[in-house]
Amino acid sequence: MENEKNIIQDLIRRAMKAREYSYSPYSNFSVGAAILSESGKIYTGCNIESASYTPTICAERVALFKAVSEGERKFKMLALVGGPKNGEKKTEEIVSPCGVCRQMLYEFGKDLKVVMADNEEKYEVRMLEELLPYGFGPDNLI
Ligand SMILES: [Zn+2]
Repeated sequence: MENEKNIIQDLIRRAMKAREYSYSPYSNFSVGAAILSESGKIYTGCNIESASYTPTICAERVALFKAVSEGERKFKMLALVGGPKNGEKKTEEIVSPCGVCRQMLYEFGKDLKVVMADNEEKYEVRMLEELLPYGFGPDNLI
């Protein structure tokens, strides 16, 4: 699984880079994400906030939407990193995707690996289906 570890660490590095572009002046909570498509391409995203709050979008959906808008439909893995901008964490917990992002990712497959990272060495991997059990997806409408 050394190869998978390399892929995971590459995604984490890219998510950390994307996090630098976070536009989060209201929450001061910056997040970066990177998603690996089945085609092998990687798309990144950061959270982007709005003064009217509700249009705000998470890093995971920015990465996903960039990929989908370029024709991607199947994904292998997504990594995310995040926390307060000043770097002071209240807990040791890693950041996990919000419910909306879990739902949107579920749209494109429940067998996505989600890497929730603190850094390249400290991370947890969960299947999307574990993060969104009994999810409602495209199969439910057929
Ligand atoms: Zn989200």
